[in-house]
Amino acid sequence: MAHRVEILSVGTELLLGSIANTDAQMLSQGLSALGLNVYWHTVVGDNPQRVEQAVATARSRADILITTGGLGPTCDDLTKQVLARAFGKELVRDPESEERIRAYFAATGRTMTENNLQQALVPQGCTVLSNDWGSAPGCAFQADGMHVIMLPGPPSECTPMFRHRVIPYLQSIAEGMILSRTIKLFGIGESAVEAQLRDEMNASSNPTLAPYAKEGECELRVTAKAPTQEEALALLEPKVEELTRRFAPLVYGVDVPSLEQVVVDGLREKGLTLGCAESCTGGLLAKRITDISGSSQVFLGGVVSYTNQVKHQLLGVPAQLLDQYGAVSQPVALAMAQGVRRVLGCQIGLATTGVAGPQRDDRDNPVGTMFVAISTPEGDYVRPLQLGQRPTRARHRVQTASHALDLARRYLAGLSYDL
Ligand code: ATP
Ligand code: MG
Repeated sequence: MAHRVEILSVGTELLLGSIANTDAQMLSQGLSALGLNVYWHTVVGDNPQRVEQAVATARSRADILITTGGLGPTCDDLTKQVLARAFGKELVRDPESEERIRAYFAATGRTMTENNLQQALVPQGCTVLSNDWGSAPGCAFQADGMHVIMLPGPPSECTPMFRHRVIPYLQSIAEGMILSRTIKLFGIGESAVEAQLRDEMNASSNPTLAPYAKEGECELRVTAKAPTQEEALALLEPKVEELTRRFAPLVYGVDVPSLEQVVVDGLREKGLTLGCAESCTGGLLAKRITDISGSSQVFLGGVVSYTNQVKHQLLGVPAQLLDQYGAVSQPVALAMAQGVRRVLGCQIGLATTGVAGPQRDDRDNPVGTMFVAISTPEGDYVRPLQLGQRPTRARHRVQTASHALDLARRYLAGLSYDL
């Protein structure tokens, strides 16, 4: 039987709108990657009666309940108490957790009070999910046909706890193995992918295919279920290969975190260096590249050449090009990429220029008119873009930076630049 998951987030701050429920978002993403169906998100304040009611409702409809928050030491942290009572379990002291809490406070140099040790209380007979990222342990147990999993609220704890404690636990209770891989595409929308795969998506239940839109990119998740890992892989791998072939050159990787990671990895592999000249992206491209650890080996730097003066004086873009074609143009994008390559002495130069909006530029180019360029020892290329008037300024910038990264990753992979 397919599992029905409910996520119950406990915290008055969530109800007041002081914080967004990012734990539930993270959990939902992770659970659907495992092929589990999340049917409900519930949020309830730090109030024992209402938490109890929410648990009763969850029991009537879900068979996996994952709670977040309220595991800490203060009196409003009541999740464990309420859940234990609801399922008729005593709270007992877990010596290992007690040891960990003492060690945690010693390591972080904070003073421990008696109520901190309350966090070492866990429902009798549960699996303790030890917390290496904070002090309150999580826990998991099965009762009345329901799996209950409790996680701490802070995202810096909840996220690694999910990855390192909950996923293995869920795999141990699943009747078989659920494996999924994510094919990352750039340059095609989710709806176009879905249209191409519609028949297959309807026909195939194992592995399943699900496209998702993500910040101007598309992810295609392939999930297989089988009694053993080997069998799940045997279902999964041929499908992933087939789809990767089919959508190449739009596929920039499988199970890779981002375009920028792929670019930095590719540069390191080939021992090449990169620099960028940015107008409309205002440094975002450089920021995204330097978000990747190890980028210092391959990224020499970037010039935010926002005005024509800087484009001309720093990058050597000929004044005549700027006068004749304007800053938002194919020749200027190209001259920027060539210029930054020359000025920084890197092998690959990337450039962005365009109208991020909300107003047209002084040459009456519509919002969303962008040019990204690449200059390499083997030749240069400019990709003109019309990103449309509707997306916001922020969206235009992200998309433009992604297109520039796409040029670099295509160069590194020896692919054609044409979309
Ligand atoms: P602690 O030991 O820190 O008290 P806890 O498990 O008791 O952890 P809460 O007290 O409910 O968790 O929340 C602690 C903090 O974690 C909140 O102030 C908030 O910043 C963050 N947090 C809690 N729940 C969520 C959530 N669902 N999504 C995102 N952040 C959350
Ligand atoms: Mg708390």
